[in-house]
Amino acid sequence: MRGQLETRDDSPAGPPQGRMLPLGGKAQSAKGAHMTSLDNLLDFDQSALKAYCERVGEKSFRATQLFRWIHHRGVGSFDDMTDLARSLRAKLAGVAEVRPLSVMADKGSVDGTRKWLFDVGQGNAIETVYIPEDDRATLCISSQAGCAVGCRFCSTGHQGFSRNLTTGEIIGQLWHAEHRMKAELGLGANERAISNVVMMGMGEPLQNYSQLVPALRMMLDDHGYGLSRRRVTVSTSGVVPMIDRLREDCPVALAVSLHAPDDALRDMLVPINKKYPIDELLGACERYLDAAPRDFITFEYCMLDGVNDTPAQAQALVNLVKNRLPVKFNLIPFNPFPESGLKRSSDARVRAFGEVLLEAGLVTTIRKTRGDDIDAACGQLAGEVQDRTDAQRRMTRSIPIVAVAPSNANPSVSSQPLKQ
Ligand code: SAH
Ligand code: SF4
Repeated sequence: MRGQLETRDDSPAGPPQGRMLPLGGKAQSAKGAHMTSLDNLLDFDQSALKAYCERVGEKSFRATQLFRWIHHRGVGSFDDMTDLARSLRAKLAGVAEVRPLSVMADKGSVDGTRKWLFDVGQGNAIETVYIPEDDRATLCISSQAGCAVGCRFCSTGHQGFSRNLTTGEIIGQLWHAEHRMKAELGLGANERAISNVVMMGMGEPLQNYSQLVPALRMMLDDHGYGLSRRRVTVSTSGVVPMIDRLREDCPVALAVSLHAPDDALRDMLVPINKKYPIDELLGACERYLDAAPRDFITFEYCMLDGVNDTPAQAQALVNLVKNRLPVKFNLIPFNPFPESGLKRSSDARVRAFGEVLLEAGLVTTIRKTRGDDIDAACGQLAGEVQDRTDAQRRMTRSIPIVAVAPSNANPSVSSQPLKQ
């Protein structure tokens, strides 16, 4: 396992979070230039905001009003929060702000998918993708700039790790997208543009645990985004101890990126497997089911031509999970990017693989690829993150994956779910 995996964030979750001392205001940088150090209210979930209000000498119930203005109504300027006393507005303006993310690019796909690129400073950018469907609209949110896990098939992983996002930067993606789409779609005050959130953008959410959990709580908060636990999904490459923590702290829906039926192959594809092998991962999934809002765990499986897509490997997957835990398989056609050296499995091969799972009684779907024309598909989120960790060179040096039985065809992906 590589060094960066040791950067796992073990700090306790739960409010109050964020920088609480000193209160914000104008600060002097080392070089003497003035810079703003106002507290970002997007960093605070409702209970942290209550604590913050008390610290500035306000009654804690004001926090609910403030929280609703910010998250429910999308208002960022204290001047516009008309039912707050003028004195409170003036006091807040001196120490705090609602700090929006800075938009670098905003791209729309022909299929309605929308991708925002946000500048998070020092050469780092993150991506957020809005995916409308007939009966829902899903926002795919990033949790880190880059990622330390370094999966072979993931463009974010190829860039290496740059930094964890703050709670305010995580929820700021939803804040921006929800209120932007609401305005564009002409929705009413009590309507919502986004019905589902998936933590499937850039980064490994469970390696940024302390900043993730308050953001999840804001998503679930009725005064915030009011999403049900079933509609908020954390996707993980398998940070076993943090799966257990999430079960205790904020059990939302869980998706696990499996991608291989055995440890030898998974070690190569998802390097964190060397630290938390498949059997331990399945154990954490079993425990998670006690608290999960759904009665199954989703297993994501990226279909790589000739690497992990044979019927025999599908059968090995069946043997792994059948009679152990209820799962739903989501087969993701690989979205290629130049440096990966890997190919997408053909439609026929994906379908044949899915049939083996289905015949064994496992619920299986094939993920539709969306936003291909704007590079918004899974694993294509690259942002502008600089490669600070030399990940690319290490990738090239690491052991090549041996093709098991390559198929020739590599046409575009089927969008049909497999049905039993
Ligand atoms: N780090 C988390 C969440 C972000 S990745 C995780 O790994 O689960 C979200 C999903 O996209 C994961 O299932 C991941 O395996 C998948 N993915 C990554 N790169 C991909 C690619 N190039 N093509 C298709 N899926 C990819
Ligand atoms: Fe990180 Fe997930 Fe990409 Fe793996 S697939 S490198 S864990 S973002």
